[in-house]
Amino acid sequence: MADSAVPPIREPSAASGQDAWTPEASAELYRVESWGDSFFTINEQGHASVRPFGDERLSIDFVKLIEELERRAVGAPVLVRFQDVLQARVRMLNEAFAAAIEEAQYGNRYNGVYPIKVNQLHEVVEEVLDAGRKYGMGLECGSKGELIACLPHLTEEGMLLVCNGVKDRTMLSLILSSQRLGLNVVPVMEKYSEFETLLAVADAQGLTPRLGVRVRLATRGSGRWSESGGARSKFGLSVPELVRLVAELERRGKPEALALLHFHIGSQIIDIQVLKRALKEITQIYASLVRRGIGIKYIDIGGGLGVSYGAGHARGEAGVNYGLQEYANAVVFAIKEVCDAQEVPTPIIVSESGRAITAHHSVLLVPVLEGHRRNGADRCELPADTHAAIESLKKILDNVRNPDREPEELIEAYHDIEEVRIEAHTLFSLGYLELDQLAVVEELYWSIARELLARLRPAEIDPTPAEVLELEEKLTDRYLCDFSVFQSILDHWAIDQSFPIIPIDRLDEKPERRAVLVDLTCDSDGKVSHYISALDDKSFLPVHSLVDGRPYYLGFFLMGAYQDIMGDTHNLFGRVPEVHVYADAEEPDNFWIERIIPGATVHEMLAQVQYFPNDLSRRMSDIVKRKIDAGQVRPTMGMEILAQYVACFNGTTYCDAPGGQQAAARERGQG
Ligand SMILES: *Cc1c(COP(=O)(O)O)cnc(C)c1O
Repeated sequence: MADSAVPPIREPSAASGQDAWTPEASAELYRVESWGDSFFTINEQGHASVRPFGDERLSIDFVKLIEELERRAVGAPVLVRFQDVLQARVRMLNEAFAAAIEEAQYGNRYNGVYPIKVNQLHEVVEEVLDAGRKYGMGLECGSKGELIACLPHLTEEGMLLVCNGVKDRTMLSLILSSQRLGLNVVPVMEKYSEFETLLAVADAQGLTPRLGVRVRLATRGSGRWSESGGARSKFGLSVPELVRLVAELERRGKPEALALLHFHIGSQIIDIQVLKRALKEITQIYASLVRRGIGIKYIDIGGGLGVSYGAGHARGEAGVNYGLQEYANAVVFAIKEVCDAQEVPTPIIVSESGRAITAHHSVLLVPVLEGHRRNGADRCELPADTHAAIESLKKILDNVRNPDREPEELIEAYHDIEEVRIEAHTLFSLGYLELDQLAVVEELYWSIARELLARLRPAEIDPTPAEVLELEEKLTDRYLCDFSVFQSILDHWAIDQSFPIIPIDRLDEKPERRAVLVDLTCDSDGKVSHYISALDDKSFLPVHSLVDGRPYYLGFFLMGAYQDIMGDTHNLFGRVPEVHVYADAEEPDNFWIERIIPGATVHEMLAQVQYFPNDLSRRMSDIVKRKIDAGQVRPTMGMEILAQYVACFNGTTYCDAPGGQQAAARERGQG
């Protein structure tokens, strides 16, 4: 997929009209293949669609789904969970390990555990366990809350629960009690002192604990989560501490208490070579301990199985350099190689893949509320009194419209209009330019700027002059979207992660515009600042012009890992409504909706910061009564206003639904 295959985006004015454009061209432009895996595609109608089973058997059209949601009055933004996708991911992961084990003739089995921190939603956990039951899938928890959520789900005999994270006495005691119940719960010692506490609690109860150890490896992860691994990581026992722990167990005559060795080199491992080094290191440790007579049962390789969010990040962040099967092969072969060389039996392989299981299954659908573009002089009326600044801009405009102008002359014209604009603002602040004259200066400035860019872009000057980049930046549209970055894509703001975003409709039409997506929060960080596309410049998203009365939805993909659970309530934007969709070939559009979970209401969000409806209504009512008493409003009107206020408590924190008459996908000039 060469970038040159993507036709350049032109301003509508510069385009010759209906250029041929196809859904395939959109797929290439938005790099759908690089992140969609086998799940997301663009269909012949130019609609985004999902293949919930990860193959060609069945596909669901997002436009059809939105129509159904509108019929059911589910407000947007809305998070859609495809439970079949979740199940498919569990199946793919387990089958990849099964295939690797068979190919390597590995003498033991794979036992995946799902780390619930990635998405603790009860239904997600149940769906994962349901799909994983036949593979003996277990769970992983990293805190007290998660431990308490996980324990009652150990319904199958021998089902594994790995307990990571910092554990206090209460947790260690509960874990020991669950071991006494015969449950397969393994607390992983993160620090030596935790081991000492565990022994103390166990001694007090007269129990022999079973435990695991997180080992601090020399190998460090790659990518932005690399801090989780390596010798300086927050968690884990150093090799001397591990040896001390083993000696203590031996002294107590309980070497078999050590059941599991664990490492985690960070989420989203970019380079598989790093993982292989860590695997060799941990397996050497395992082999030495086994030969010393410690019958360790499990090697737990942690999480980190990567998901491709689309290659070609502006800051050089590459996609992950391996797929699911390669990952499984690498793990199985590396462990087997060391075990064979050391002549020890192979362990059960545990992995704690979270992102790779959940990322694909949820998609956020966000309506665009408005497109702001820098308008030109087509709409401006000349004031009665012209001004030297206006005259010189008019002259420049005529000049740049002359087709014989060379790029250097156009760049010079850009310098000129910059100067005139700055001067005009100075004159205005000194009182020498009227407000309506300033308005004309502004509109002419933007007209010329657009004209210049439309002419300079096709000239493809190499390297691109700073002036052209500046113009591109200034002339990018702002699309106001009905969502909050902080609630729905926190990692974009927090750690600069890119997520694939594409329009879900009109993908058979060329996206002629360039937009930056901004959210509803009053925060200047409340925007999407880089995008997945095949274009060199990742600072904007190619989009279509908004059409009045026709809603325009964007799909935010790969939302299922971490994002939809970490949302922050900046500006009191709350949880978005959620729908759970199942695939079914017997249904008219291949799907049915199992559940609709309403989003957070205004009063729920207010309660989090200690405002309560009763108190607020009473205060509001006092104000209204005073105004009635003062004769400012009639009592009926006063009561209506109060009712209007109170009705908002149960409403959504997001904007009214677009669509129908209120769609008003209007384009407003700004500048
Ligand atoms: C976060 C975490 C995981 C999950 O990692 P993914 O990259 O999402 O698979 C697994 N294990 C531990 C110890 C973690 O902290």
